[in-house]
Amino acid sequence: MNITEERAQQWRVDLRNAMKAKERTGIPRVHMPELDPQYRSHTLFEEVNLGLTPEMAMQEAKRCLDCANPTCMQGCPVGIYIPKFVKQVETGDFLAAARTLKETSALPAVCGRVCPQEKQCEAQCIHTKMNKDAVGIGNLERFVADYERESGNISVPETAPANGIKIAVVGSGPAGLSFAGDMAKLGYDVTVFEALHEIGGVLKYGIPEFRLPNAIVDVEINNLKAIGVKFINNCIVGKTITIDDLKADGFKGVFVGSGAGLPRFMNIKGENLVGIMSSNEYLTRVNLMDASSENSDTPVFLGKKVAVIGGGNTAMDSVRTARRLGAERAMIVYRRSEEEMPARLEEVKHAKEEGIEFMTLRNPIDFKGNVQGRVVQMTLQVMELGEPDASGRRSPVEVPGKTETIEVDEVIISVGVSPNPLIPQSVTGLEVTKWGTIVVNNDTMQTDIPMIFAGGDIVRGGATVILAMGDGRKAAASMHEWLSK
Ligand code: FAD
Ligand code: SF4
Repeated sequence: MNITEERAQQWRVDLRNAMKAKERTGIPRVHMPELDPQYRSHTLFEEVNLGLTPEMAMQEAKRCLDCANPTCMQGCPVGIYIPKFVKQVETGDFLAAARTLKETSALPAVCGRVCPQEKQCEAQCIHTKMNKDAVGIGNLERFVADYERESGNISVPETAPANGIKIAVVGSGPAGLSFAGDMAKLGYDVTVFEALHEIGGVLKYGIPEFRLPNAIVDVEINNLKAIGVKFINNCIVGKTITIDDLKADGFKGVFVGSGAGLPRFMNIKGENLVGIMSSNEYLTRVNLMDASSENSDTPVFLGKKVAVIGGGNTAMDSVRTARRLGAERAMIVYRRSEEEMPARLEEVKHAKEEGIEFMTLRNPIDFKGNVQGRVVQMTLQVMELGEPDASGRRSPVEVPGKTETIEVDEVIISVGVSPNPLIPQSVTGLEVTKWGTIVVNNDTMQTDIPMIFAGGDIVRGGATVILAMGDGRKAAASMHEWLSK
């Protein structure tokens, strides 16, 4: 053990001894300040969570016991050294905490805002085993990343000398961005090709400003530019250029992080009526094309009675957007009960505070239109919960003969996504599953075509930001190993 490590260990022991464990667990969780629900349900662009102050963060950090066996870390898909950064917060060394986060997480300001912590790190925090609120790991992560950014002291990671080897990345979502960052740090010449006009994937076109401001994502993108990553937007790989073109142009490796942007529908009667669209279309138009503004060339209809079908984060984002755009009735229609909803708990809580109606155990069976072909009504089948299905959640079963009719003027379908088929279709011999996801070796993220690696939603189907990021990092490490042979 060198002298610095020894000092760090002693510092942790001293800090641990500074307060009894019982005192630490007796401190109530510090709550995140939020915008008033009445106010925020009319503003599309202001972030709901306001962030912790330094004093609040230090108080929350005191609750952490700095466990010898930190179970919280087992719940973090990228293995953030949680007690270390939390204890750095406790002592007020926020910039050191930011460096700790960056050792394993490429996008801490994003993850602190959108990760489902209550199912990951916080679910495994020792406090929960004592029937206490988990340490607010996500809130602290967000605080540290914001502090670093606002202080203007953003640390640019060290990069290895340029090796001149060209690497292409398809897609600029969290998988592509984290892959690009790690490869650039290793000295590669990285170019990210993005189909849309904006860089950031779902972080920009899906998740609304009131949950994840674009400015936060832009800082992360600028950090990548600072270490040499190049971005080419409006470029569809498989159409504008092909992977063969990239190969001919000297690219030695390709990482596919093209996501799962293909919306699913229910295939029920009336689903093609005017006023019914996918969440994907709705959110992209509002978030990237300014479609809620009167001056927009392609304005979105501002419904007053809006039903969003589904119970995930995408559904919550859509219904809360509709509310902000003036819906008097903004409804979630979900075929299971609230307990089975896949959305983050905080989003459900915020949605309820904003006046969203939750119509659970209801499933649409048809939509009816007026003479102009515009949706005006939906029929809902009442459901009950049966036995657990393959996902482990209790499956919804119809209650025979029980239906309800609800008036609507806009319906947004948010029942899941599939991988975009363009890349698999345009690359001969690339192995895909029956769901259209790309098959990879799970240890390396390499496909059956050695120069092509893949990760994120194109491999997993719709998943999470942190899993996409973890895949990008894993793929970078293994592509580097493969290219170094
Ligand atoms: P994406 O983020 O989908 O990025 C893929 C990118 O590739 C896109 O920009 C796309 O335009 C581009 N692309 C596709 N094909 C091509 C091509 N042929 N050529 C060039 N570019 C191409 N997860 C969470 O953890 N927490 C949340 O709160 C959360 N909320 C969500 C809310 C919404 C509305 C949505 C839609 C998803 C949400 N998710 C959330 C899921 C999460 O965002 C995704 O799992 C994650 O973004 C997947 O990352 P990715 O990099 O694989 O793909
Ligand atoms: Fe701290 Fe909880 Fe992790 Fe223990 S499990 S180190 S208390 S965050």
